[in-house]
Amino acid sequence: MTDSVKTLCPYCGVGCGLEVSPPAAAGRATHRDSQGNPIWKVVGDRSHPSSQGMVCVKGATISESLDKDRLKYPMMRDSLSDPFRRVSWDEALDRIVDRIRTVIATQGSDGICLYGSGQFQTEDYYVAQKLIKGCLGTNNFDANSRLCMSSAVAGYIQSFGSDGPPCCYDDLELTDCAFLIGTNTAECHPIVFNRLHKHIKRDRKAKLIVVDPRRTKTAEAADLHIAINPGTDIDLLNGIAHLLMRWDKIDTLFIDECTKDFPAYAEVISHYPPELVARKCGIRIDHLEQAARYWAESERVLSLWSMGVNQSSEGTAKVRTIINLHLMTANIGKPGAGPFSLTGQPNAMGGREAGGLAHILPGYRSVKNPQHRAEVERLWELPAGRISPNPGRDAWSMITGLETGEVGLLWIAATNPAVSMPDLERTKAALLKSPLTVYQDAYYPTETAAYAHILLPAAQWGEKTGTMTNSERVVTLCPQFRLRPGEAKADWEIFAEVGRRLGFVEQFNFPDSAAVHREFVQATRNRPCDMTGISYDRLQQEGPIQWPCPLDGGRESTSTQQSGILSNLFKGKEEKPKGKRLYMDWRFNTPDGRARFAAYHSKGLAEPADETYPFVLTTGRLYGHWHTQTRTGRIEKITKMHPNPFVEIHPRDAEKLGIKDEDWVEVRSRRGRARFPAKVTKAIAPGTVFVPMHWGALWADNAEANSLTHPEACPDSLEPELKACAVRLVPI
Ligand code: SF4
Repeated sequence: MTDSVKTLCPYCGVGCGLEVSPPAAAGRATHRDSQGNPIWKVVGDRSHPSSQGMVCVKGATISESLDKDRLKYPMMRDSLSDPFRRVSWDEALDRIVDRIRTVIATQGSDGICLYGSGQFQTEDYYVAQKLIKGCLGTNNFDANSRLCMSSAVAGYIQSFGSDGPPCCYDDLELTDCAFLIGTNTAECHPIVFNRLHKHIKRDRKAKLIVVDPRRTKTAEAADLHIAINPGTDIDLLNGIAHLLMRWDKIDTLFIDECTKDFPAYAEVISHYPPELVARKCGIRIDHLEQAARYWAESERVLSLWSMGVNQSSEGTAKVRTIINLHLMTANIGKPGAGPFSLTGQPNAMGGREAGGLAHILPGYRSVKNPQHRAEVERLWELPAGRISPNPGRDAWSMITGLETGEVGLLWIAATNPAVSMPDLERTKAALLKSPLTVYQDAYYPTETAAYAHILLPAAQWGEKTGTMTNSERVVTLCPQFRLRPGEAKADWEIFAEVGRRLGFVEQFNFPDSAAVHREFVQATRNRPCDMTGISYDRLQQEGPIQWPCPLDGGRESTSTQQSGILSNLFKGKEEKPKGKRLYMDWRFNTPDGRARFAAYHSKGLAEPADETYPFVLTTGRLYGHWHTQTRTGRIEKITKMHPNPFVEIHPRDAEKLGIKDEDWVEVRSRRGRARFPAKVTKAIAPGTVFVPMHWGALWADNAEANSLTHPEACPDSLEPELKACAVRLVPI
């Protein structure tokens, strides 16, 4: 092993570069974790273009989680009440292959589901698609990204003709106005926020608007914090658009030349005067006007959003309504501007590129498109018609498929649905009905392992070589730098081995992950996410590379007209944008090259507060923890930082209910109940309460946020409304 290795942080979609040194590097004492395992030294990689050496507490402490509670060997049991027994890989894989054959013979291949993860490397994702969608002929592959950013995917596709965040992180330092909605960036994407905040502090002309029902750390840094009522995002966005129209601060040339469907949108926003919007959103009119003024007065507006927008029963509509503002003001395809969705998982972007959701195929293709299916079938050397034209089961419908008996095999990899799914009691009851659940993970125990019949030990970060793409489309090579524990295998190796045992020997004849990557990039040829110019060799030699990166350099990205606009924009300024942006030529990936406006009235929350459940619960994340704590719950520094779950309650509500700080409160919804100590704080708006989503049954008793949430989902993205449900509070 070398002295140090450059890689990518495996936590969030910011995608910070890390430099990792082995525990016994020359001249250093070996530090050990609480279980006596040597700790690898991790620092930020100063040469990484996305993070420039910065790193948050999660990245800095990642190595403390590498050796604790690892699943090292395949394990099996006949029923969930039996203890696991250690088995060989042969025995475990034969059992899986037998079950696949049985399900195909009795229920058809649509009885098989694979639920994967944004923790996968792109190579894992790609081989899984080839196995499930190609060889088995069902599109029942979905990933936990469904719960995270599928609304952004649907919004981009519908507005621009294809997926892909059009911005890059350089825009954080070039914007005149950052509009953050539904994102606590300071805690959930800290290094993105560091870059933005430094810029805002340095350039006092630049403005930061934060839209969030909570006064988060992000909101505390804002020039303008708008604490809207939960579920009124579209009202606010339409209200800003209304004022921009009224003040004639729209770009009619861009609208005429580069977009479609503006008249219908203009008609809708005419119904959103400030008085009405302020009343619906529960905000001051002057705050609404100030937000619209910042938009109107800024040459370059950058919107950032994440789960607060995406996890909604109208998530796609919210995304498109954000994009509408960018289209009406031409704030797209230029430095410092654009609608920028922040991805949650480290490689959710790679998953999108590899086709890792139930309705898509590799290379930003759709399962519904016959030409797309044919192209992928040719690449995979499969007979025409093998790929199903029907979208497969999304994450939640895998759960409901267990309820109805339509799912005969559930294979879960690198994710923890027994904590992260909505309506947990229903989820767990469905998991108990599963005829066979395979659980492939690096750790044991986890909450989901309790529902598995077969456990497969997965190699994790640093134990396999692969690529990951971060939110700004930068691809980083993540090399193996440590030995795998026990008999752990890379996820892609497990999928390939099952494929070969099913008879697809040629399709899975990959000697190593570099061969998988070579085939994967061919699937992106001439697609919007063209990566044919990216190879392991280039990544090793040149470092991280941003796509699009076609082998031949691709289409000219800036038209003559746009060159003029851009040179005017930067006349006399020293800014030298480096990151690539999409749509610099203002040609979009729709058939006619025009972006689409979308007109939406707000529907509000799927489950608003009422007399019986008078509070809106909103869920979210804390700075140090990552999702269901599979790693961070095992890191001392982080568990000390966030020792317990809690419920935030506004002092006015607390007083009415006789609740004092740290009193225990039971939170009840129509689906379940959970108990938390109260945190009485003005950070949360009256009528709203907040609970962090990180605590599953392994880490605390009766403190699961998702025992309260509901699965009502956006009809376009199928992303559940994990962010809001109606609850009541009972002091205990
Ligand atoms: Fe890792 Fe995200 Fe923190 Fe960067 S910001 S170090 S990617 S968790």
